[in-house]
Amino acid sequence: GLAGQAAIVTGSTSGIGEAMATALAEQGVNVVINGFGDAARIEHDRRALEERTGVRIVYHGADMTKPDEIADLVDSAWREFDRLDILVNNAGIQHVSPVEEFPPEKWEAIIAINLSSAFYATRAAVPIMKAQGRGRIVNLASAHGLVASPFKSAYVAAKHGIVGFTKSIALELARSGVTCNAICPGYVKTPLVEAQIGDQAKARGIPEERVVEDVILAAQPNKSFVEYPHLAGMLLYLVSDLGASTTGASLAIDGGWTAA
Ligand code: NAD
Repeated sequence: GLAGQAAIVTGSTSGIGEAMATALAEQGVNVVINGFGDAARIEHDRRALEERTGVRIVYHGADMTKPDEIADLVDSAWREFDRLDILVNNAGIQHVSPVEEFPPEKWEAIIAINLSSAFYATRAAVPIMKAQGRGRIVNLASAHGLVASPFKSAYVAAKHGIVGFTKSIALELARSGVTCNAICPGYVKTPLVEAQIGDQAKARGIPEERVVEDVILAAQPNKSFVEYPHLAGMLLYLVSDLGASTTGASLAIDGGWTAA
């Protein structure tokens, strides 16, 4: 079982990362959580998860645009738990704009947070996992790691980059007991996406249900959001012993989006 293992989940104060950290904690895994947000709320949620699951939850506020802070995140997780079994590279942001108007600072931030942060965390975690003879690296890519949409040039570039990075790391670590895989979700109703629904409804003057059907889920054949438990199920498979032969894979959970 996973009980007693140690994990880092980047960007886990919201959305998918929070769901992933919760799923691991429910399996008895000690977790270092990370991400931005209101300090009192983060501490409240940290303590509540710790009390409910009985594992240790430690918060580290590393900014995923800062390589030295990412190195410190990994180092402090290892010092805290004396082991590091699971690294989930999840932190990510989005910006939607035609390429000729795409703000350079948004491009740089998306590449830094959605792509380079996985490199910095992985390079710090790999020596620890190799020495243990076992480890699991799971990168949150996206359906946009496999196919594109217009006006998301930085996001699509970063997510395709993560898919390639995942393959390269898997090959490097193939005989070390450490696996590296990418999860590629379609649309998940995270706080970020929920905010977009309201904004789109206002902008277009249509009800929110139509935004979901006609705009957001237009690409998703099953016309349903991907649910947190479906993502957690894939994560728990990948990090378990049953996932030992799965490495270098980019696994779609997208209601058929990338089958089309
Ligand atoms: P979210 O906005 O709900 O959560 C993002 C998390 O990343 C938050 O905890 C935030 O504080 C953190 N974060 C942002 N910038 C950071 C920084 N510089 N340093 C540290 N932490 C930072 O987003 P989400 O929808 O849960 O997305 C999580 C991941 O899943 C992202 O990589 C995203 O691209 C990917 N994803 C999301 C969807 C979706 O539909 N929501 C679909 C496919 C892939």
